Amino acid sequence: MLIDTHCHLDFPDFEKDREETIQRAKKENVRYIINIGTSVSSSLKSSEIAQKYNCIFATAGIHPTDMEKTHIIDIEKINELAKNPKIVGIGEVGLDFHYSRKFEEKQKEFFIYQIEIAEKHNLPLIIHQREAEKEIKELLKTRKLPEKIVFHCFSGDEEILDWCMANGFYISFTGIVTFPKAYNVHKAAKIAPIDRLFVETDAPFLAPVPFRGKRNEPSYVRFVLEKIAQIKQMDRAKIEDVIFQNSIKFFNISY
Ligand SMILES: [Zn+2]
Repeated sequence: MLIDTHCHLDFPDFEKDREETIQRAKKENVRYIINIGTSVSSSLKSSEIAQKYNCIFATAGIHPTDMEKTHIIDIEKINELAKNPKIVGIGEVGLDFHYSRKFEEKQKEFFIYQIEIAEKHNLPLIIHQREAEKEIKELLKTRKLPEKIVFHCFSGDEEILDWCMANGFYISFTGIVTFPKAYNVHKAAKIAPIDRLFVETDAPFLAPVPFRGKRNEPSYVRFVLEKIAQIKQMDRAKIEDVIFQNSIKFFNISY
Protein backbone atom coordinates (compact mmCIF):
# COMPACT_ATOMS: atom_id res chain seq x y z
CA MET A 1 0.00 0.00 0.00
CA LEU A 2 1.09 3.50 -0.83
CA ILE A 3 0.64 6.84 0.82
CA ASP A 4 1.09 10.22 -0.81
CA THR A 5 2.30 12.26 2.16
CA HIS A 6 2.19 15.65 0.44
CA CYS A 7 -0.10 16.98 -2.26
CA HIS A 8 -2.44 19.88 -3.00
CA LEU A 9 -5.79 18.58 -4.23
CA ASP A 10 -7.37 21.80 -2.97
CA PHE A 11 -5.63 23.75 -5.78
CA PRO A 12 -7.71 25.00 -8.76
CA ASP A 13 -5.83 22.50 -10.98
CA PHE A 14 -8.13 19.78 -9.58
CA GLU A 15 -11.39 21.72 -9.60
CA LYS A 16 -12.76 19.86 -12.63
CA ASP A 17 -11.76 16.29 -11.78
CA ARG A 18 -10.93 16.04 -8.08
CA GLU A 19 -13.22 13.04 -7.58
CA GLU A 20 -11.77 11.14 -10.58
CA THR A 21 -8.23 11.98 -9.43
CA ILE A 22 -8.93 10.47 -6.01
CA GLN A 23 -10.47 7.37 -7.60
CA ARG A 24 -7.43 6.92 -9.87
CA ALA A 25 -5.17 7.08 -6.81
CA LYS A 26 -7.25 4.38 -5.10
CA LYS A 27 -6.91 2.15 -8.18
CA GLU A 28 -3.12 2.55 -8.00
CA ASN A 29 -3.13 1.28 -4.42
CA VAL A 30 -2.76 4.69 -2.76
CA ARG A 31 -4.42 3.99 0.59
CA TYR A 32 -3.99 7.46 2.10
CA ILE A 33 -3.41 10.99 0.87
CA ILE A 34 -2.23 13.88 3.04
CA ASN A 35 -3.41 17.17 1.60
CA ILE A 36 -1.15 20.02 2.64
CA GLY A 37 -2.39 23.53 3.41
CA THR A 38 -0.49 26.56 2.10
CA SER A 39 -2.62 29.42 3.45
CA VAL A 40 -5.65 29.81 5.71
CA SER A 41 -8.09 29.38 2.81
CA SER A 42 -6.13 26.44 1.39
CA SER A 43 -6.00 24.81 4.84
CA LEU A 44 -9.75 25.26 5.26
CA LYS A 45 -10.40 23.74 1.85
CA SER A 46 -7.98 20.89 2.60
CA SER A 47 -9.84 20.08 5.80
CA GLU A 48 -13.17 20.15 3.93
CA ILE A 49 -11.83 17.67 1.36
CA ALA A 50 -10.49 15.48 4.19
CA GLN A 51 -13.91 15.55 5.83
CA LYS A 52 -15.46 14.08 2.66
CA TYR A 53 -13.08 11.15 2.18
CA ASN A 54 -11.91 8.51 4.65
CA CYS A 55 -8.66 8.12 2.72
CA ILE A 56 -7.71 11.80 2.94
CA PHE A 57 -6.17 13.70 5.83
CA ALA A 58 -5.09 17.33 5.84
CA THR A 59 -2.62 19.75 7.39
CA ALA A 60 -2.95 23.45 8.21
CA GLY A 61 -0.25 26.00 7.59
CA ILE A 62 0.88 29.17 5.85
CA HIS A 63 3.57 28.78 3.20
CA PRO A 64 6.57 31.12 3.45
CA THR A 65 5.93 32.56 -0.04
CA ASP A 66 2.43 33.58 1.04
CA MET A 67 3.58 36.35 3.41
CA GLU A 68 2.33 39.36 1.49
CA LYS A 69 -1.32 38.54 2.20
CA THR A 70 -0.75 37.07 5.66
CA HIS A 71 -1.75 38.79 8.91
CA ILE A 72 -1.26 37.91 12.54
CA ILE A 73 -4.97 36.96 12.90
CA ASP A 74 -4.29 34.07 10.47
CA ILE A 75 -2.17 32.36 13.11
CA GLU A 76 -5.23 32.10 15.36
CA LYS A 77 -7.12 30.49 12.46
CA ILE A 78 -4.35 27.91 11.96
CA ASN A 79 -4.40 27.26 15.70
CA GLU A 80 -8.18 26.66 15.56
CA LEU A 81 -7.86 24.33 12.56
CA ALA A 82 -5.22 22.32 14.41
CA LYS A 83 -7.96 21.07 16.78
CA ASN A 84 -9.83 19.35 13.92
CA PRO A 85 -9.30 15.56 14.18
CA LYS A 86 -8.64 15.25 10.43
CA ILE A 87 -5.78 17.74 10.66
CA VAL A 88 -2.68 15.58 11.10
CA GLY A 89 0.10 18.16 10.87
CA ILE A 90 1.15 21.79 10.69
CA GLY A 91 2.53 22.84 7.32
CA GLU A 92 3.77 23.51 4.95
CA VAL A 93 5.76 26.16 6.75
CA GLY A 94 9.35 27.29 6.62
CA LEU A 95 11.62 29.67 4.75
CA ASP A 96 11.96 30.31 1.02
CA PHE A 97 14.38 32.90 -0.34
CA HIS A 98 14.37 31.67 -3.93
CA TYR A 99 12.45 34.61 -5.36
CA SER A 100 13.19 37.31 -2.81
CA ARG A 101 14.26 38.17 0.73
CA LYS A 102 11.72 40.93 0.96
CA PHE A 103 9.76 39.16 3.67
CA GLU A 104 12.69 37.47 5.39
CA GLU A 105 11.82 38.69 8.90
CA LYS A 106 8.11 38.04 8.43
CA GLN A 107 8.83 34.54 7.11
CA LYS A 108 10.88 33.80 10.21
CA GLU A 109 8.26 35.26 12.54
CA PHE A 110 5.40 33.21 11.04
CA PHE A 111 7.53 30.09 10.88
CA ILE A 112 8.18 30.40 14.62
CA TYR A 113 4.48 30.96 15.40
CA GLN A 114 3.62 27.82 13.50
CA ILE A 115 6.38 25.74 15.10
CA GLU A 116 4.76 26.73 18.40
CA ILE A 117 1.32 25.60 17.22
CA ALA A 118 2.69 22.19 16.18
CA GLU A 119 4.48 21.86 19.50
CA LYS A 120 1.39 22.87 21.49
CA HIS A 121 -0.96 20.44 19.69
CA ASN A 122 1.67 17.73 19.48
CA LEU A 123 1.36 17.59 15.67
CA PRO A 124 4.05 16.82 13.09
CA LEU A 125 5.65 19.80 11.37
CA ILE A 126 6.02 19.79 7.57
CA ILE A 127 8.90 22.05 6.56
CA HIS A 128 9.37 23.69 3.19
CA GLN A 129 12.79 25.21 2.61
CA ARG A 130 14.31 26.67 -0.50
CA GLU A 131 17.67 28.45 -0.56
CA ALA A 132 17.38 28.97 3.19
CA GLU A 133 19.39 26.09 4.65
CA LYS A 134 21.62 28.24 6.83
CA GLU A 135 18.73 30.27 8.25
CA ILE A 136 16.61 27.16 8.93
CA LYS A 137 19.46 25.52 10.82
CA GLU A 138 19.98 28.66 12.92
CA LEU A 139 16.31 29.03 13.67
CA LEU A 140 15.64 25.41 14.62
CA LYS A 141 18.74 25.26 16.80
CA THR A 142 17.42 27.75 19.29
CA ARG A 143 13.90 26.60 20.00
CA LYS A 144 11.70 23.95 21.48
CA LEU A 145 10.55 21.77 18.60
CA PRO A 146 7.69 19.37 18.01
CA GLU A 147 8.68 15.73 18.27
CA LYS A 148 8.11 14.95 14.58
CA ILE A 149 9.54 17.02 11.74
CA VAL A 150 9.74 16.26 8.02
CA PHE A 151 11.66 18.17 5.36
CA HIS A 152 9.39 17.79 2.36
CA CYS A 153 10.67 17.72 -1.24
CA PHE A 154 14.16 16.92 -0.06
CA SER A 155 16.82 18.12 -2.48
CA GLY A 156 19.73 18.92 -0.18
CA ASP A 157 23.27 17.60 -0.23
CA GLU A 158 24.89 15.01 2.00
CA GLU A 159 25.67 17.54 4.70
CA ILE A 160 22.02 18.59 5.09
CA LEU A 161 20.97 14.96 5.01
CA ASP A 162 23.40 14.15 7.84
CA TRP A 163 22.14 17.11 9.82
CA CYS A 164 18.50 15.96 9.36
CA MET A 165 19.35 12.43 10.47
CA ALA A 166 21.42 13.60 13.46
CA ASN A 167 18.47 15.67 14.66
CA GLY A 168 15.90 12.89 14.24
CA PHE A 169 14.11 14.58 11.33
CA TYR A 170 12.47 12.77 8.44
CA ILE A 171 12.84 13.59 4.76
CA SER A 172 10.42 13.13 1.90
CA PHE A 173 11.17 12.60 -1.79
CA THR A 174 9.16 13.87 -4.77
CA GLY A 175 9.24 13.10 -8.49
CA ILE A 176 12.55 14.99 -8.67
CA VAL A 177 14.21 11.69 -7.73
CA THR A 178 13.13 10.35 -11.15
CA PHE A 179 14.81 13.21 -13.06
CA PRO A 180 18.00 11.98 -14.77
CA LYS A 181 20.17 14.92 -13.73
CA ALA A 182 19.07 15.22 -10.10
CA TYR A 183 22.39 13.83 -8.85
CA ASN A 184 22.14 15.27 -5.33
CA VAL A 185 18.72 13.75 -4.83
CA HIS A 186 19.83 10.37 -6.20
CA LYS A 187 22.70 10.36 -3.74
CA ALA A 188 20.45 11.34 -0.84
CA ALA A 189 17.99 8.58 -1.79
CA LYS A 190 20.83 6.08 -1.86
CA ILE A 191 22.17 6.83 1.60
CA ALA A 192 19.05 7.90 3.54
CA PRO A 193 17.87 5.14 5.91
CA ILE A 194 14.50 3.74 4.77
CA ASP A 195 12.99 4.15 8.22
CA ARG A 196 13.40 7.92 7.95
CA LEU A 197 11.97 8.65 4.55
CA PHE A 198 8.58 9.20 2.96
CA VAL A 199 7.31 9.53 -0.60
CA GLU A 200 5.12 12.31 -1.90
CA THR A 201 3.96 13.82 -5.19
CA ASP A 202 3.62 17.52 -4.28
CA ALA A 203 0.88 17.40 -6.95
CA PRO A 204 0.01 19.35 -9.05
CA PHE A 205 3.76 20.13 -9.23
CA LEU A 206 6.85 18.02 -10.01
CA ALA A 207 5.31 15.14 -11.95
CA PRO A 208 7.72 12.20 -12.07
CA VAL A 209 9.11 10.66 -15.24
CA PRO A 210 7.25 9.51 -17.45
CA PHE A 211 4.80 12.37 -16.80
CA ARG A 212 7.39 15.08 -16.28
CA GLY A 213 6.06 18.51 -17.26
CA LYS A 214 2.41 17.44 -17.00
CA ARG A 215 0.04 17.95 -14.09
CA ASN A 216 1.02 15.66 -11.25
CA GLU A 217 -1.45 13.63 -9.16
CA PRO A 218 -1.36 11.21 -6.19
CA SER A 219 -1.70 8.09 -8.38
CA TYR A 220 1.85 8.82 -9.66
CA VAL A 221 3.45 8.38 -6.24
CA ARG A 222 4.43 4.83 -7.19
CA PHE A 223 7.00 6.18 -9.67
CA VAL A 224 8.77 7.93 -6.80
CA LEU A 225 8.76 4.77 -4.73
CA GLU A 226 9.93 2.58 -7.61
CA LYS A 227 12.83 4.90 -8.36
CA ILE A 228 13.96 4.87 -4.72
CA ALA A 229 13.78 1.05 -4.67
CA GLN A 230 15.86 0.97 -7.85
CA ILE A 231 18.47 3.41 -6.50
CA LYS A 232 18.74 1.51 -3.23
CA GLN A 233 18.68 -1.86 -5.04
CA MET A 234 16.04 -3.02 -2.63
CA ASP A 235 12.92 -5.10 -3.00
CA ARG A 236 10.07 -2.77 -3.93
CA ALA A 237 7.44 -4.53 -1.78
CA LYS A 238 9.70 -4.37 1.26
CA ILE A 239 10.46 -0.65 0.91
CA GLU A 240 6.80 0.09 0.17
CA ASP A 241 5.77 -1.61 3.39
CA VAL A 242 8.38 0.14 5.55
CA ILE A 243 7.54 3.58 4.13
CA PHE A 244 3.80 3.01 4.55
CA GLN A 245 4.14 1.91 8.19
CA ASN A 246 6.47 4.81 9.01
CA SER A 247 4.20 7.33 7.37
CA ILE A 248 1.05 6.31 9.19
CA LYS A 249 2.96 6.25 12.46
CA PHE A 250 4.41 9.70 11.81
CA PHE A 251 1.02 11.25 10.97
CA ASN A 252 -0.72 9.20 13.64
CA ILE A 253 -3.22 7.67 11.22
CA SER A 254 -4.93 4.58 12.52
CA TYR A 255 -6.10 2.05 10.00
ZN1 LIG B 1 3.76 21.43 -1.32
